[in-house]
Amino acid sequence: MPTPAYTIVCTKKALVAPGVYELRFTRPEGMTFKAGQFVLFDVPLVEDRTNIQARAYSIASAPGETELLFGVKLKEGGRASMWIEQVIQEGTPVRIQGPFGLFLVKETDPACIFIATGAGVAPFRSQLIDLLEEKKDTRPMHVLFGVRHPQDFFWLQDFMSLARAYPNFVFHPVLSGDDESWTGLRGHVQQHLPSINAAHPDAGIYICGAPEMVKDVKETCLTDFGIPKIRLHAEGYI
Ligand SMILES: Cc1cc2nc3c(=O)[nH]c(=O)nc-3n(C[C@H](O)[C@H](O)[C@H](O)COP(=O)(O)OP(=O)(O)OC[C@H]3O[C@@H](n4cnc5c(N)ncnc54)[C@H](O)[C@@H]3O)c2cc1C
Repeated sequence: MPTPAYTIVCTKKALVAPGVYELRFTRPEGMTFKAGQFVLFDVPLVEDRTNIQARAYSIASAPGETELLFGVKLKEGGRASMWIEQVIQEGTPVRIQGPFGLFLVKETDPACIFIATGAGVAPFRSQLIDLLEEKKDTRPMHVLFGVRHPQDFFWLQDFMSLARAYPNFVFHPVLSGDDESWTGLRGHVQQHLPSINAAHPDAGIYICGAPEMVKDVKETCLTDFGIPKIRLHAEGYI
């Protein structure tokens, strides 16, 4: 079966943290996806719109939401990064293909621990809304969301209001920089895993972010914390 392709139209573009854009698009009629999946955008070169390559972006909106939401961390000189900064605006049509991917929460996990840095939080926003609001899932769930500076956080309101509404969900923002005003958790996201893991020793652990971060967290889980591979699921933003 050919991969579904759609044209979606940008309805909002906003800088939600330094170098991070939130992009909202119309959701085509009939487009279905599972929380945690991604789509491929057709990305033209800014200087030659006929030169097109695909770039993957996780869908941050939940399957039950009416729009498609994405969170994109810009890379200096990157093709999609320049296109998003310079070309995309409200009303811009974009061709996408998908959905793709198997980064899905397992129904058999007794609890779920989600670990992200930066834009890696995108699939977790979709999954948390889907599990908590749409499926009324009562399993224990924790999100560890790491950034360097307080201003790098985005979508905090979404996670905090879910945490207020659903007692089975705990949100842990973590700061790796040395901002003095920060009173919350500090260091690398994986440092805070042992205490959560001790309370949920069979939880599925979902890791998403830059490839180096995903590799580091996986290695720490396997070698330092003795967590079996079968519990680890990862999506690296290569
Ligand atoms: C499944 C999946 C889901 C993803 N979801 C997201 C998401 O939700 N949000 C998100 O922000 N990202 C996501 N990504 C990453 C995303 O697909 C892009 O890789 C990212 O946005 C960078 O794309 P770009 O076109 O801007 O940069 P690219 O053009 O791919 O370049 C990346 C970097 O390499 C440098 N570079 C490129 N070519 C060269 C060269 N020849 N020599 C030296 N340097 C070079 C660029 O300057 C840039 O800094 C995902 C990736 C995967 C695989």
